[in-house]
Amino acid sequence: MRLETLSVFPEVFSPYLNASIMGRAQKANIFEFYTHDLRDWTHDRHRTVDDAPFGGGQGMLMKPAPIFEAVREISNQADVKPYVVFFSPVGRSYSQVIAQEFAQKERILFVCGRYEGMDERVYELADDVISMGDYVLTGGELPALTVIDSVVRLLPGALGDEMSSQDESFSDDGLLEYAQYTRPANFEGREVPSVLLSGDHGAVAVWRRHSALARTYAWRPDLLENAQLTDEDRAYLAALNQQSGDEDE
Ligand code: SAM
Repeated sequence: MRLETLSVFPEVFSPYLNASIMGRAQKANIFEFYTHDLRDWTHDRHRTVDDAPFGGGQGMLMKPAPIFEAVREISNQADVKPYVVFFSPVGRSYSQVIAQEFAQKERILFVCGRYEGMDERVYELADDVISMGDYVLTGGELPALTVIDSVVRLLPGALGDEMSSQDESFSDDGLLEYAQYTRPANFEGREVPSVLLSGDHGAVAVWRRHSALARTYAWRPDLLENAQLTDEDRAYLAALNQQSGDEDE
């Protein structure tokens, strides 16, 4: 997979993407990363990428010309055209489902905004516009790193252990992940659930499913609406519901 960024701060990506799992995945050719400096597509002495908004108002906007020129030129730098993703608070809300969608692409170009945002006309270049949530960051670089990290860890071989991204929160069944514990079994009087020490794999699997259901019910009940649930899961949730109703009384 080929991942690219277009930004006025191209230097911010490599410290993160060369470290740890991302660095190893690059070395193992699981993904290639290219960063482009938007100022390379300016034609004035000051390498200007911004200008004042028509109609007045505070701050500066990113000019359309360097972005159009850059996206067109970068798109032609490989045989496969990139899927072009812009970042903006107006976009669709990023999620694990979108990460899985992106993990199927051959090539993605992430266009990172700065200042007060971009001239509206650049969005015609976008195949997708992504928001990282209902808050405002100073630029699209952190969104790009977040998306790249979440996509790369889904690529076969990136995590080393093929299973590790499969039963995480938001994966296949739409539930949060079950609770996990490591040594010591007793920490200052806090015991690990004994079933996890039993060596009974069937009982551990049942406990984990119940834990995933209970955690989702407690922390993110909204996810249960679209989760893939069996009749047994529903019965367990009904029992939880009954229990919390009893406790409220
Ligand atoms: N004035 C814009 C507004 O109110 O929607 C915000 C611009 S923000 C300061 C500058 C850039 O940061 C945006 O163009 C976008 O690329 C990025 N950005 C900021 N918050 C974001 C978010 N929640 N999701 C995705 N990108 C974001």
